[in-house]
Amino acid sequence: MPYLELEPFGLTDAGKVRKNNEDAMLVGDGRDETLFAVADGIGGFEAGEVASRIAVDALKELEPGGSFESAIREANRRILAAARGDERLNGMGTTVVAVRFAESGGDPVAEVAHVGDSRAYVLRGGRLRPITEDHSLVAELVRSGDLTRAQAAEHPQKNLITRALGAEDEVNIDTEVIPIEAGDRILLCSDGLTDMVPETRVAEILLESAGDPETPARRLVSAALDAGGSDNVTVVVVDVKRHEPPPPPPREDRSGGTREMRAVPRPEGWGESRPSRREARRPKGSRRPSGSGKRRRGGWITRIVRGLALVLVVVVALTPAYLWAGSRYFLDLESGEVVVYRGLPYAPMGIELNEEWRRTELEISEVKEPYRERIRDNRLYTQEEIVAILRDLRK
Ligand code: MN
Repeated sequence: MPYLELEPFGLTDAGKVRKNNEDAMLVGDGRDETLFAVADGIGGFEAGEVASRIAVDALKELEPGGSFESAIREANRRILAAARGDERLNGMGTTVVAVRFAESGGDPVAEVAHVGDSRAYVLRGGRLRPITEDHSLVAELVRSGDLTRAQAAEHPQKNLITRALGAEDEVNIDTEVIPIEAGDRILLCSDGLTDMVPETRVAEILLESAGDPETPARRLVSAALDAGGSDNVTVVVVDVKRHEPPPPPPREDRSGGTREMRAVPRPEGWGESRPSRREARRPKGSRRPSGSGKRRRGGWITRIVRGLALVLVVVVALTPAYLWAGSRYFLDLESGEVVVYRGLPYAPMGIELNEEWRRTELEISEVKEPYRERIRDNRLYTQEEIVAILRDLRK
């Protein structure tokens, strides 16, 4: 049994474009000190901040060994309840990705749960491996073979997620359990990082900054800001280390509009040979005698059938402002005529996600120049916007 300890560092920044930071994070300051999370809130008028905060607060209450999935379902219930009780919070939601460290069959493992497009990665042996698969439309289209990963990264609707907390009464949570060892580095991040910084660069930064988790966390956030910082960006880096004597107390260090958290107490008992303690940290429902690494099924794991998620397209996220499901109108050509559709400009796996809404009786040549490009790229609009555009469309 290896003696392991965790050294985490989390950093979040509003970015260069947005006024508010709707991301939230948990860096070992919950009841379970081995628990870390990133949540990316959605919803106007600061509602996204409320949703991501509720998610993190619910996870903070999770006891070591308690049900990961129940805590996330509880977060979902609280977000829905808060939204129902306050008109301004209507339609708010959040992604969440969380990791906690435990033992399974005597081996140290990381349990990862996620909903939405915030991600978890593990760096091991010089390679960065994704642990999570985005619950997003483009990720589904990549899985169905309709898009390549490169096309997905550049896609105008890449921020459209198919699952979120706060969207429905029932939430489908993906979970993974991976074995861990000393030297592993876990990264949790919001899409403000992965949309701005290519995965290869993320891997380089994590590789170049061995030793402590703070340096790579800072460099990753800087890289996202340098690339434009068009979204809130949050990274939590957790280094898994061989147990050593406790480090000196952390120094205080605060900078700019950046919140940070550092150096939580080592998860006592974890990695030490106290059986009762170890038992308490074993994930509930974990009955597999040994070996980890494979996706566990059943118990607290719910896997939705691939493709079903597409029917549950509930969140439309657009830059610069996230918009809820209202932004579902787009222009396209039908036999040469410009037509307004309600829905989303896809029919993945034969599932139509749109319907004809208004015909314009205009050909593209009769449309004002600036709108032609938007017809070609099926830009999404709210109903209010599309009504205004219809009035202005004719040359
Ligand atoms: Mn985001």
